[in-house]
Amino acid sequence: MKVVYTLRHRLHHPEQEFEHSRFQKPFETPERVEIIQAALMADPRYEFVAPDEWGTGPIAAVHDPGLIRFLETAWQEYQATHPYTRDVVPDVFALPGLRFGIGDPIEPTSIDARLGHWCYETTTPLTHGSYDAARSSVDVALSAAEAVLSGERWAYGLCRPPGHHAARSVYGGYCFFNNAAVVAERLATSTGSRVTVLDLDYHHGNGTQQIFYDRADVQFVSLHGDPARSYPYHTGFAEECGTGPGLGSTMNLPLAAGVEDTEYLRVLDQALSAVSAFAPEMLVISLGLDTHLEDPISDLALSTGGLRAAGAAVATLGLPTVVLQEGGYAIDLLGENARAWLDGLAGYEQRT
Ligand SMILES: [Zn+2]
Repeated sequence: MKVVYTLRHRLHHPEQEFEHSRFQKPFETPERVEIIQAALMADPRYEFVAPDEWGTGPIAAVHDPGLIRFLETAWQEYQATHPYTRDVVPDVFALPGLRFGIGDPIEPTSIDARLGHWCYETTTPLTHGSYDAARSSVDVALSAAEAVLSGERWAYGLCRPPGHHAARSVYGGYCFFNNAAVVAERLATSTGSRVTVLDLDYHHGNGTQQIFYDRADVQFVSLHGDPARSYPYHTGFAEECGTGPGLGSTMNLPLAAGVEDTEYLRVLDQALSAVSAFAPEMLVISLGLDTHLEDPISDLALSTGGLRAAGAAVATLGLPTVVLQEGGYAIDLLGENARAWLDGLAGYEQRT
């Protein structure tokens, strides 16, 4: 299986994040990707390739061009008024209630206000190299998609930063650009095919859902921790099933805390039935490994064997498949768990 990877992800390296009313070491670190890379490099069945550069065109197909422009220069602009800062987060958020009855919000002029216009939360600091890293992550995703378009059965984009929380006009949740959405859009528009994004991260892929919510040609199906208790809290409820021409093309399957392999695989079967009914010609997987029992920020209880079985279950769809890395924070186990899921997909023999 082709694995697309670049060292440029290391350019995004915050020292802290602010969550649950405290500063903490970030869970989303460069080591996550390095551990997966090391595990797959040890296996000759995984062939590493460098990404090509794709420019901003494919990103602008799913994101507000203003968001791209903002992210390109925001860190440097912030230094002009707040010198010697490292990890940059908003102080003031442009919630609709702030201007209720006054008129629609417009992009403000000061960098402090613009941060709260484009970013919706505090766990996603902008650092000096975040924009370049986010661009490289999209390049990784698009290059994996290109491998599949060129005839590979499957390809794995070892993306970092992840993408599925980035919506059309806002970033957050460790995500700047929505890698899976960029890929799904490219696959759908360049081939005219129906495409499914199956999101298997512990957290709801709010950004991907939003971007395709009214689309009939791109299906979004997600298994995730119930937003009644799980980030990002405001999306991912079972009632959300698309709108307009996209009505019925979104499916959310929220999971209770503590769900283990058997129940997870049962719900995954439901998801796969919905994918089959949609009859896509291509599949994009948002692969989160934070469904594992040992994940420090999530509360499902999959085993490594369960992840392998999930990959194997997805393979039964028989679709050309682009797998993109999203979350997963049990750092010591990420290599083993990524390999288990991908081995399951590719039907590689189990190793001891
Ligand atoms: Zn996640």
